[in-house]
Amino acid sequence: MLTEVHVPEDVPAAVSLVAAGATIIGGGTSVMPSLNDYGSPPTELVSLRRAGLAGVNIDGTTVTIGATTTLSQIEHEPRLEILNPVVRSIASVPVRNLATVGGNLFVPQPHGDLAVALVALNARAFVLGGLDDPAAALDGPASASNGPAGLLGGDGARTEVSVEELTGARTAGLVAAVVFELPAPGSFKYLKAARRRYNSASLVTVAATITESGGVVTGARVALGGVSNRVVRARAVEEALIGRPLDAATVQAAARAGLAELSPADDAYASAWYRRRVFPVHLRRALLGH
Ligand SMILES: Cc1cc2nc3c(=O)[nH]c(=O)nc-3n(C[C@H](O)[C@H](O)[C@H](O)COP(=O)(O)OP(=O)(O)OC[C@H]3O[C@@H](n4cnc5c(N)ncnc54)[C@H](O)[C@@H]3O)c2cc1C
Repeated sequence: MLTEVHVPEDVPAAVSLVAAGATIIGGGTSVMPSLNDYGSPPTELVSLRRAGLAGVNIDGTTVTIGATTTLSQIEHEPRLEILNPVVRSIASVPVRNLATVGGNLFVPQPHGDLAVALVALNARAFVLGGLDDPAAALDGPASASNGPAGLLGGDGARTEVSVEELTGARTAGLVAAVVFELPAPGSFKYLKAARRRYNSASLVTVAATITESGGVVTGARVALGGVSNRVVRARAVEEALIGRPLDAATVQAAARAGLAELSPADDAYASAWYRRRVFPVHLRRALLGH
């Protein structure tokens, strides 16, 4: 049951409300259906829409995207062309006009396609107000940082966490921005398999950053969506790619290794069996383009 919606005008006020127990609403495209459809305990929402966290800043190769930047804003930012296939695979134009980057990090799989891409891009998130699930979020490297200037609002220490760790956290304070380095041209790959073009959740989403030198793969960071209850960092796939030529035989072997990392569910879009069957095909299409 929705009891109150706060719309703070700045970040510190939003952080205080979150600390007091209010639930963050970005675009509301996931929060509102869950409040309306499934009932809920008394819930206060804190909307971030006036908190000043929208915008894209690109400094050299470092990209900072404010948490309330909408997916449509990303789509229309020419300097973020590499993310076009990602945002265009998500929902539909009316949903993308509302949906935010911050919200996409926390929607349950098989949604969260941008989060999959951000994991492959080794993105980091700046979190304000502390992590409610530190065990999940602090497994890996985390540090206090002042973060990139401009988009974060306010002063004081922020916790910097990899998006990979964050997507496994149940709740995570207030994400102010995500930051990543633009990959070398041609090294970022993305493909989402879905039942239909619009408003269809992932069957399998593959995002990868692959570097090659001397005819072999020298670096691979592969993330998968739709195949588990969280974004999967496909380490077995990465290991099977590195040191080998990026060809059909290598990708087939990598897909075989990757099957062990999948724990897909049956849902209205596809069975777990089907998701396992299409994974090798879509890994090949994502990495080789055919
Ligand atoms: C018809 C339809 C189709 C969809 N299709 C897709 C799809 O194809 N792919 C896909 O990825 N998603 C899809 N979605 C899910 C959703 O629209 C997107 O994932 C969207 O990016 C969520 O963003 P939001 O701002 O609306 O999140 P909200 O609903 O506002 O919030 C989602 C969650 O994130 C938390 N949150 C929001 N902002 C922050 C923040 N700054 N810091 C910390 N926590 C925060 C909220 O508390 C909540 O738990 C679809 C939704 C609908 C309704």
